Amino acid sequence: MSCRPIRRCSSDISMKLNPSLQPLLDPKLSDKLRKISSQDSVESSESRILVMFTGGTLGMARVDGVYTPQKDYFSQAVRRNPNLHDKEYANKLKEYDEALGETFVLPLCSHNRRILYCIFEYPEPKDSCNISIEDWRTLAEDIKENYEKFDGFVIIHGTDTMAYTSSALSFMCENLGKPVIFTGSQVPLEEIRSDGRENLLGALYLAGHYVIPEVSLFFDKKLFRGNRVTKLVNNQFDAFDSPNLDPLARMEVDVIVDWDSIFRSKSTEKFTVHTHLNCNVGLLRLFPGITVQTVRSFLQHPMQGVVLQTYGAGNGPSDRKDLMTEFKEAADRGVLILNCTQCIKGVVSNSYETGKALMDAGVIPGADINPEAALAKLGYVLGKPGLTRQQQLEMLQSNLRGEIRVFAEEEVKKFSLEDSKFIQAIVQTLNISNSREVKSVSTALLPLLMCASAKNGDLNSLKYYKSMGGNLSLCDYDQRSPLHLAAAEGHIDVVRYLLENGTSIYDRDRYGNTPFMESIRCRHFEVIKLIKKTGGHFIRETTKELASLLCSAVELGDVAGLEAFALAEVDFKCSDYTGRTALHVAVTLKKIECIEYLIERGADIKAKDGNGHSPLSLAVAADNKQILELFEAYQ
Ligand code: ASP
Repeated sequence: MSCRPIRRCSSDISMKLNPSLQPLLDPKLSDKLRKISSQDSVESSESRILVMFTGGTLGMARVDGVYTPQKDYFSQAVRRNPNLHDKEYANKLKEYDEALGETFVLPLCSHNRRILYCIFEYPEPKDSCNISIEDWRTLAEDIKENYEKFDGFVIIHGTDTMAYTSSALSFMCENLGKPVIFTGSQVPLEEIRSDGRENLLGALYLAGHYVIPEVSLFFDKKLFRGNRVTKLVNNQFDAFDSPNLDPLARMEVDVIVDWDSIFRSKSTEKFTVHTHLNCNVGLLRLFPGITVQTVRSFLQHPMQGVVLQTYGAGNGPSDRKDLMTEFKEAADRGVLILNCTQCIKGVVSNSYETGKALMDAGVIPGADINPEAALAKLGYVLGKPGLTRQQQLEMLQSNLRGEIRVFAEEEVKKFSLEDSKFIQAIVQTLNISNSREVKSVSTALLPLLMCASAKNGDLNSLKYYKSMGGNLSLCDYDQRSPLHLAAAEGHIDVVRYLLENGTSIYDRDRYGNTPFMESIRCRHFEVIKLIKKTGGHFIRETTKELASLLCSAVELGDVAGLEAFALAEVDFKCSDYTGRTALHVAVTLKKIECIEYLIERGADIKAKDGNGHSPLSLAVAADNKQILELFEAYQ
């Protein structure tokens, strides 16, 4: 890791996203897609993914006999590949709207889903050996800037340092609620036996179908947690592995997602990025015979954080008092030394005297963290301003992003025959006697029971089901999560509990509604505010759809409905399919209270509808003095 201070560098991959992305972000696009696709059924849906191309073998070509990163090459290669881009469908989009910038489309996926994606190629694609901390910062900032416009992010990156970047991004992204998936390849995309097609396709497919709110890495049919991977092989397609954690998902004939092991942010804070990483960190690998001079010079100022790669279960040479003294003195000076085993798999423990000696010298046990993640975690913790040493130590030993396994947190009781009266009754009725079958029953029933508890506002039952191993993010038959139900019923304490336990605010039920939309639809103000604070925003709803909902609320004189939309920060200037705004309807129907509410919140009295009428001209034509006076008062 570089020792230079972090700064933004224009020659690096820091250019802002190009303007041609904008048309994809046009909210009218959903309407267009619905109209033009003959294959779409009522249940069809689309996802929008941003593909950020940083370089790596996937986008390289042979120049003078060696692989070299190519400028403006990746999009062209994708464009030529029918598995990655449905030209016909994209042309229809273009025909429909000539101003539309380049939008890539995957062939129709299962569940009738279309995955649309924009490609942003950074101006200087890099071999990942040249990736810098500034580049990490650029990636984080670009995700932040585009967070609300896309359902997920795919980052193409060289494999050599991908595990370092995915680890760093996992810490830099705070309260992440959407998928960020790294991928790359061992053979360039344009070569006949490239693994790039499958890797890119898989990453896009996963990002477009599942809300896996983690920084992850997809390679050779497996999705790994980004801060658990390591590049283990350089001449086979299965380049990566995650020795201490099974893959989060596998793409075989079926896609299998291990929902129980997905890491979720347990916070009601919005997504943000922390871009300052301390770069005075380093990796020191012990070996028999290492000299005290080497250790001393490594630990010298300005070093502030060291990943100490130890033997076996976190052991060091306890007989080497000279080394132990160096570690102790450095720790006393404030250097954070994190113990990380040299073994590919396993955990640091204090079962040996040789391990305890390191702990006594002030070395911090790193559990089952891998070196890439340990380095990133140190950079992140040391980069947080104003932390006391005690807070730094606590953070290093806590599970911040799923990078370590903390045993206490996973000690959940599992359902057994004795546990729940309800499950017991079912088990008896079905004549079930072994624990595997009990598990199947509870797996099938728990999501439904939890949804029912959420709907009834029964927080205690929900906590009980969770303590029994229930996953609060699983959905019912309508793909509604407990959060959808609690939000629709306005149970604020249940909503808070679910958010603090990582239930996603971006899950869509089979009607396309998010928990946020449910809280608005049912006018639960406190819930709207809480989900908004957590990062809730409109996802699928077009401005025209929102305007129609506002017009309907006005028709019913439903000021509370308008208030719900105001809390969700809707723009009251938006117009429906005929160009009417809510204020047009309010004037036509003489809904005085609604008129007052709307103009107080910035509705435009001069906005013209499809027939050229404005709320003002309608009031003049109707000679409605009361409304005209209101308009005047607010001018
Ligand atoms: N050297 C290349 C890089 O890391 C290797 C790869 O992409 O697979 O960019």
